[in-house]
Amino acid sequence: MLKEFVRKRSIHVCVVNTGGCNGCDIEIVSCLAPRYDIEQYGIFVHNNPREADVLLVTGPVTLPWKERLKEIYEKTPEPKIVVAVGACALSGGIFKEGHVVGGIDKVIPVDAKIPGCPPRPSEIIEAILKVGPDALAMKEKMIKEKIRKGEVII
Ligand code: SF4
Repeated sequence: MLKEFVRKRSIHVCVVNTGGCNGCDIEIVSCLAPRYDIEQYGIFVHNNPREADVLLVTGPVTLPWKERLKEIYEKTPEPKIVVAVGACALSGGIFKEGHVVGGIDKVIPVDAKIPGCPPRPSEIIEAILKVGPDALAMKEKMIKEKIRKGEVII
């Protein structure tokens, strides 16, 4: 619980590709490079849903990914903020007629959508900064409530 307090000013993002072409993922990687330097905004990208404030999902949901995406969503702690990145994540995109479920919102709730094929790094950062602070605020409120109820001791 102490860890939650220590990192309450940083937004931890888990990237999940549910079957896209990697174009959107490359733009996310660009966010980490010095030109955009996403960490200057306190955003840290990794691949552990159990530590994530925000799930950044790319690609259409291919059939094998349907259950896997639900599992990852379940593992993500509340408030479970999801950002769909790119046309495929929004609607299935160019894979729409293929063996895919469709957009991410067919499987899990989505809080923010970033159109584009692929979207620009600046648009990705902007979307995370739009939903991330709310996620942190909600999380802090939940922790304080647990402390108030005596469910956790720090
Ligand atoms: S939106 Fe475009 S770049 Fe992103 S996964 Fe789909 S096809 Fe690839």
